[in-house]
Amino acid sequence: MRLKINSIKQGVVIDHIRAGQGTKIFNYLGLDKADFTVALIINAQSKKLGKKDMIKVENEINIDFAILGLIDPNITVNIIKDEAICEKIKLELPTTVEEAIKCKNPRCITSTEKHITDIFELVNREKGIYSCQYCDALYTIPNM
Ligand SMILES: [Zn+2]
Repeated sequence: MRLKINSIKQGVVIDHIRAGQGTKIFNYLGLDKADFTVALIINAQSKKLGKKDMIKVENEINIDFAILGLIDPNITVNIIKDEAICEKIKLELPTTVEEAIKCKNPRCITSTEKHITDIFELVNREKGIYSCQYCDALYTIPNM
């Protein structure tokens, strides 16, 4: 079965999700509770990835691209208007991440002082490695 993007009039298509990550992103975006049309496609054929997951949303939704890029930096987000792609957003790992990554170093100031926000800086884009701004502890994004 071939699914066509133009089956959506207005909305968002989240494409090139690594196979297996689709459900996680679907739930992260709260689409399991949506009252508009949404589709989660698992194990679609992909030239680039072999298999991929896709999410189609027949509505405008707010997406935090930094967080989504952190979950899977290979994702492409297509904004659909009048059955055509009007914007294509290629995600990437954000250079700075606040709060979404927690420092695991028990001696880090973010562990001892609860009011201090975790801030991680990207130090290796290829391998997905971040470093804590306070103690230099490293964090590697899973499944890179
Ligand atoms: Zn730290």
